[in-house]
Amino acid sequence: MNYNSRGFILRQRDYRDSDKLLSIFTEKKGKITAVAKGIKKPKSSLRACAQPFCHAYLHLNQGREMDLLTQARLLDFYANSRSDLERSLYCIYLMELLDKSLLENIPLPALYKTLLLVLSAINEQGLNPLFIRYFEAQLLASLGYKPVLSHCLSCNRKASSSFRFSLAEGGLVCPDCCEEGNDVITISGETMGLLRLLSEGSFQALPRVKVSPSALKELEYLLEKYLEYHLDRRFKLKNTIRLLKKTIHFEN
Ligand SMILES: [Zn+2]
Repeated sequence: MNYNSRGFILRQRDYRDSDKLLSIFTEKKGKITAVAKGIKKPKSSLRACAQPFCHAYLHLNQGREMDLLTQARLLDFYANSRSDLERSLYCIYLMELLDKSLLENIPLPALYKTLLLVLSAINEQGLNPLFIRYFEAQLLASLGYKPVLSHCLSCNRKASSSFRFSLAEGGLVCPDCCEEGNDVITISGETMGLLRLLSEGSFQALPRVKVSPSALKELEYLLEKYLEYHLDRRFKLKNTIRLLKKTIHFEN
């Protein structure tokens, strides 16, 4: 059976002779693995579309084990992001997140739209760390880990700034219910508010949001730990970005 779908290339890896395997986040079927036949040949029309974070219109042939990519038309190459090292790394990090966390053949159309928004914004407006955090929060929500931020998860008491974040419970716990341990993180009221905004709010509001550097740091730490806790994965690219930041001092 043939089908068409838009899709983002998450990752490519070598496969038989002139073929490659592509991990693709498609709009219709969610994540799939597809064989790109003959893609290593210089004249292959698929080459232009197969780089990570390319957005393309894809023609696929459904196979018993893997689908076959027969044709592809490039929709967006995100040229501004691609010509900038820091932006490229963050875009590839988003692809890594999806590649490692999504199960195959489960459509996630809302997350697809979010990715489209975030990649376009990074390309057109530049890198805003909140764009990346927004995507992480939305990914967690799509996977069923939307953090509970309105009340204590144990006793239902209404949330206040003395509450802490429990990675295991997936949300806030009050001082009375909180048990000390590795999986409880202290966050400021500002960070709590930010996390609420990222989980519930609209993407369009983000460029106007003012954030203190300390809250941004806390938020990044919290989301990283929360992703690692529930996806049981480490994200290599995050460390690469951290190292690069130390060496070349990116400006944010
Ligand atoms: Zn409680």
